Amino acid sequence: MTPQKKPVVTCPTCGKTVEWAPEQRWRPFCSERCRLIDLGEWASESYRVPAEEQTLPEDSGAEDRRFPLYIS
Ligand SMILES: [Zn+2]
Repeated sequence: MTPQKKPVVTCPTCGKTVEWAPEQRWRPFCSERCRLIDLGEWASESYRVPAEEQTLPEDSGAEDRRFPLYIS
């Protein structure tokens, strides 16, 4: 009377329950698609970093203003 409890994992991409069995080829993902999606996002994550590094020069300098102020 021992119920065979198969280990179950959750697909990191879609959250679907996946049985941890040899026939589940893409575990812990539920399918190849979910696996590729996860890998793709991981890759784009690392590509995104350099773009965020750009910082605009803050000090335009009061002496180097491009727009002269005409105050009358
Ligand atoms: Zn999935």
